[in-house]
Amino acid sequence: MSRRTHLLPGPYGQSWTTPLLLTSLKGGAVPHLTKETLAYMEIEPAFLAPAAPIVQQTEVLEKYQKGLTSFLGLPHQFSLMTPLDPSVPDRPGFHTQKSVALWHNGNKTSVTPEMYMRGVIAAQPSAFVALCDSETPVGASNKRKGKAVSKSLDFLDRCLLMKASEPRLSDSLIFGAIEGGYDAQCRAFSAKETVQRPVDGFLIDGFHTNGVTSGDLIWSDAQPLLQSILKALPDSKPRLYQGSCSPKMTLDLIEIGIDMFESSYVFHETEAGHGLIFPNTLKPVTSPDNGCHASLDKKVDFLDLKDPQFKDDFSPIHQSCTCYSCRKHTRAYINHLLATKEMLGPVLLMIHNLHHYQIFFRTIRECCETDSISALRALI
Ligand SMILES: [Zn+2]
Repeated sequence: MSRRTHLLPGPYGQSWTTPLLLTSLKGGAVPHLTKETLAYMEIEPAFLAPAAPIVQQTEVLEKYQKGLTSFLGLPHQFSLMTPLDPSVPDRPGFHTQKSVALWHNGNKTSVTPEMYMRGVIAAQPSAFVALCDSETPVGASNKRKGKAVSKSLDFLDRCLLMKASEPRLSDSLIFGAIEGGYDAQCRAFSAKETVQRPVDGFLIDGFHTNGVTSGDLIWSDAQPLLQSILKALPDSKPRLYQGSCSPKMTLDLIEIGIDMFESSYVFHETEAGHGLIFPNTLKPVTSPDNGCHASLDKKVDFLDLKDPQFKDDFSPIHQSCTCYSCRKHTRAYINHLLATKEMLGPVLLMIHNLHHYQIFFRTIRECCETDSISALRALI
């Protein structure tokens, strides 16, 4: 098991340790949660900001002048701006030779590197992924995969040039995307060329088409290619993976050298009405009751709290959880809220699920320090 750790510099001299979970924003907010709720939860102050709402509001941010996290009321946070929203399925067929199509709330913006960097300068993030082309679904033609690589390298060069001439981005890290779909030659070329450029980290991109299906990655297909890409990258620079990652997939990716993740898994599970219950610490479980009706001899990652079996279950989502939802509410109440489509249902689920996933990453970091990741893996 790899025990790679990095210290990522952020605002006000702070630093963030990897393996790191970035909480994904949608349209400038954590889905279902307010800034006050987030402060109460004491989550890791690191966020992933998809670019579409930023490039559609660049003029507002330029007038504001203090950057994205201040605008969102989340100052002193690590923020990473990325071209696509990993929680939303890609819409293929809209990229052009000179631009990438970014979507937000059904509105398309065709973004050139120059437009993208104008948004980056206005947002002043701690880090950003250079504009790239990841449209390489399974079955994409060789021509399409080659185009994705060459276009992404051209866009990276233009983003690097604009960053170098912009004093407001002197402290921002730039990540280059490794593209090429499921093609070993394209991937090798993309990695070799990107490594030669003055980037601070890498996005391992284009293995899926985002959205909930990103969690269906077939590990036996992806692992050899992922491993060969990661071996070609310097150990000294962090590697970001975007997409829905189950606990097992997260540990698999950490094992082969991924350092940074984002929280679209939490979002998708919440939208499905699921409450996470997988083991997220090495502590013995005080009660074996992972679900009064769940089979105890089977490892389950979540409870489907929409299921009528929970309508009279007055235990918390997870017995040993200390989050607000588990301290104050029952599975039965959340089942009722979901059945009656009350807005509070996803709010309480998101509080628990994000807390649970954050504790999982905290445990992973502790395990990296104490060389005990295998003990955590045995529980998952
Ligand atoms: Zn909880």
